[in-house]
Amino acid sequence: MGTHGSFPDRNDWFERGGQHVWLPYTQMKTALPPLPVVATEGVRLTLADGRRLVDGVASWWTACHGYNHPHIREKVAEQMARMPHVMFGGLAHEPAYTLASRLAAMLPGDLNRVFFCDSGSVSVEIAMKMATQYWLNRGVPGRTKLAAFRGGYHGDTIATMAVCDPEEGMHSLFAGLLPEHLILDLPVDEESTARFERDLAAHAHTLSAILVEPLVQGAGGMLFHDARVLRTLRAAADRHGLLLIFDEIFTGFGRTGTMFACEAAGVVPDIITLSKALTGGTMALAATVASDRVFQAFWSDNAQAALMHGPTYMANPLACAAANASLDLFESEPRLAQVAALSRGLAVGLEPCRDLPGVMDVRTLGAIGVVELERIADMNGLKRRLIDRGVWVRPFGRIVYLTPSYTMDADDLAFLTHAVVDAVTEHQRATA
Ligand SMILES: *Cc1c(COP(=O)(O)O)cnc(C)c1O
Repeated sequence: MGTHGSFPDRNDWFERGGQHVWLPYTQMKTALPPLPVVATEGVRLTLADGRRLVDGVASWWTACHGYNHPHIREKVAEQMARMPHVMFGGLAHEPAYTLASRLAAMLPGDLNRVFFCDSGSVSVEIAMKMATQYWLNRGVPGRTKLAAFRGGYHGDTIATMAVCDPEEGMHSLFAGLLPEHLILDLPVDEESTARFERDLAAHAHTLSAILVEPLVQGAGGMLFHDARVLRTLRAAADRHGLLLIFDEIFTGFGRTGTMFACEAAGVVPDIITLSKALTGGTMALAATVASDRVFQAFWSDNAQAALMHGPTYMANPLACAAANASLDLFESEPRLAQVAALSRGLAVGLEPCRDLPGVMDVRTLGAIGVVELERIADMNGLKRRLIDRGVWVRPFGRIVYLTPSYTMDADDLAFLTHAVVDAVTEHQRATA
């Protein structure tokens, strides 16, 4: 039903709009309705009814400095007044050029060439495109597939679904629509390494690259692996001449304890993707960063060899200003020390869950804390219990996880972990 004219009374936005928005990853018929949020500050969300929740998720892992950091707000406001946006085709601007220089300086090795876009999924697609065209530009046809891993998550678009975990990416549901790639188990032990090496050798001539989330497979279930696995992948990629792509959209910017997860392994990938915390949780921005070797394959007198990509809002100046301000904060405030302190607080605070019936594992890495259950029997009930305890936590699959803002203080963290322990305890008791 179309509606005409203006809406002088906006107070019923939630009820009215609820008839028109389509929610993400939600069976709208059976899920709890979303919570109306009217303001954010620090690590808290303020709801329309005045309740305040301590945020354990940092808005899908983005708000690493907490909400409404004055420095980011100020820099974005300045940029807004001067120049909110110009196209990036044929025009250049300071926020993007400065950001590219800073990212290149921060990243290890010769990851020197930054391509901007506006979402994580698209940055992974760009990495896939770069890897494929890298081979074409070098005169090698037939390398159109990637090797990726079970448990992986690289985005929601068609191309990225095809490199997600087969179940998560719904490979069978969308069979025929999705291109087929080589999906392997991570080489975590002797047996899986032997299988990995064998499968890779058999398919290497069809592959452009190996794609992985280093150290933590996030949306696939907060699955951790050892830094050694990344060295195995680097060695295998080198042996077969493949490119190695690290998707650090989740792990980048301190989440696992180092600025980038690849640093912990001492491994430099050929391409890295960044998004999520890039703007400190304020604006949509992503980057695909390539090594000199990858960029060289596109540097040519042949126009056809150029990277044919260019999203309309790429390198949006407001988003780049936010990202530069976020990087300022990593320099001026002790973020990695805060992550180390959070790591200890998460480990101690979630430890009581280990003894609960039906709890399979409690694990922490950097500012990530995970409680893994055999199953979550009553998802809505568990979510309600968490909200009733004054926290915003979004369990999925079999896990309850925390990825707080790095600025969360010890008291708020204790409040958050207590709430999780209590809510999980009650949920396990009620559904036993
Ligand atoms: C979130 C995420 C993506 C997708 O990013 P969007 O901005 O949601 O498109 C890709 N890879 C990883 C590892 C992610 O965590």
